[in-house]
Amino acid sequence: PEMANTLMRLYQEVLDNQRMVVYEYELAVISGLRQFEARIVPSGEDETVTFVRDVTALRQAEKQALELALEQERVHLLTEFIRTASHEFLTPLAIINSSADLILRIEDPDHRREKVSQITQQVSHVSKLVEMLLTVVTLETLHPDKNPIDLPDLVGGLCIEMRTLPEIGDRLRSTIALDLPVVNGYPAHLRMAIRNLIENAARYSKSDAPIFLRAFAQDAEVIIEVEDTGIGISQESIGHIFDTFWRSDEAHTTPGFGLGLAITRKVVELHGGRIEVTSEVGKGSLFRIRLPAERSDVPE
Ligand code: ADP
Repeated sequence: PEMANTLMRLYQEVLDNQRMVVYEYELAVISGLRQFEARIVPSGEDETVTFVRDVTALRQAEKQALELALEQERVHLLTEFIRTASHEFLTPLAIINSSADLILRIEDPDHRREKVSQITQQVSHVSKLVEMLLTVVTLETLHPDKNPIDLPDLVGGLCIEMRTLPEIGDRLRSTIALDLPVVNGYPAHLRMAIRNLIENAARYSKSDAPIFLRAFAQDAEVIIEVEDTGIGISQESIGHIFDTFWRSDEAHTTPGFGLGLAITRKVVELHGGRIEVTSEVGKGSLFRIRLPAERSDVPE
């Protein structure tokens, strides 16, 4: 009856407008559930002609073609990811290799110590890369269950931790509203996402320039801002900064892998939020995370 109603409405529409209408529907027939396409064409003032085709095979083929294209895209992305990631390992491994080789041949203890320290540095660089790659993978397979997050506690704790780092110290100035609403999500990952922004703010500004961290509620959202007065980001680069492995410094003279912001954006999206950035070259950048609040009450 429901389909008959729809058809009657469509016949009327075809007669009124004197224009063809295409209607697709599913119907259980003896051979199973099949898809049909009806083309209803006006053939007079009060007459229509309907052509009905069984389009099951056609739709199936289209669906398979789409799935295949998506699969190919996934394989392409994965291949690119592995290619770039592997490349990131090559330089530190080459340095480790040549330093180890030199240690065997040089006599001067100071020079040897310097080579050992080079190895240690590169090992920690590779470890950090592995850690970040594992994070990227973990984020793809996160458990769907979220937990309520006490944001003043999380952001406050992070500030205390970051101030102990020599490159941050008292550069970090924070304003955290105490009555932030609860956000549901993954506390450890959210903490890491904000941490990445603070690390970038420190990395891409003068070593004594302030870094501002603000957390406050606005309408039904919690806003977390990290602002610096550093080198800024050009309009051209802004479209790329969240891409995996993208870095403005292609020569790799500053530390980093181009994964931090990709991770941060992914984490924010997993919380149902979004991240925005405003920046001016030579003046500084402001990253703003917007998270949807779960409840408006304050956690106990
Ligand atoms: P990286 O490990 O290189 O910092 P990110 O993904 O965190 O990787 O950032 C990608 C790029 O975006 C950086 O290499 C840098 O060019 C730019 N960028 C990120 N944050 C800032 C900032 N606060 N100021 C200026 N440039 C930034």
